[in-house]
Amino acid sequence: MSIESNLNEIKSSLPPYVTLVAVSKTKPVPDLMEAYNAGQRIFGENKIQEMAGKYEEMPKDIEWHMIGHVQTNKVKYMAPFVSLVHGVDSLKLLAEINKQAKKNNRVINCLLQIHIAEEETKFGMDEKELNELLSSDEFKLFQNIKVTGLMGMATFTENEDQIRKEFMHLKTIFNSLSALSTHNCQLSTLSMGMSGDYTIAVECGSTMVRIGSSIFGHR
Ligand SMILES: *Cc1c(COP(=O)(O)O)cnc(C)c1O
Repeated sequence: MSIESNLNEIKSSLPPYVTLVAVSKTKPVPDLMEAYNAGQRIFGENKIQEMAGKYEEMPKDIEWHMIGHVQTNKVKYMAPFVSLVHGVDSLKLLAEINKQAKKNNRVINCLLQIHIAEEETKFGMDEKELNELLSSDEFKLFQNIKVTGLMGMATFTENEDQIRKEFMHLKTIFNSLSALSTHNCQLSTLSMGMSGDYTIAVECGSTMVRIGSSIFGHR
């Protein structure tokens, strides 16, 4: 199967309100260009320097999403061009993104990552930490970021009931904040679902799926 046919098959299975992020981490530019030439304009990467290199080489109408864990000292390398940062899980990181966005005279959209999986290793905040962040005085002062949604990853398991339970948990948190509307926070994006579990994620209310290996092949 070609990258183009993989893309078309996935796109035709998604409802129109679900955005597809093509996760291209570790893949070479010619593979990304194949997706680009098939119409894909949103790419997700998990390493800032790799993303910056691909940004330099590729057409400028691409939206680059940072989907991986972000180290604060590397935010400056993506601040000039990144269009959405999925994995924000602390006030400290948000403060750095705000600072670097300001230097670039931009507003950077961010998703807050929520820990929903059983595994200890997955990053993200719990509901209490999320509410503390959103109600903190420091957060309210940020002028150069906008929190536009939440992101989460389910446990890597064959157990579909468990995956569904975890995605429903995130959807419930998302719904509970749907009335929130301030100058830098309005949640409209729910980023959940990868190659192995995006069908369940969409059933649970995902509006953005991050799909890599089903498009580009195994890494
Ligand atoms: C790699 C990655 C994906 C895509 O994973 P696939 O299983 O290849 O679809 C999605 N989200 C995050 C955060 C990732 O790191």
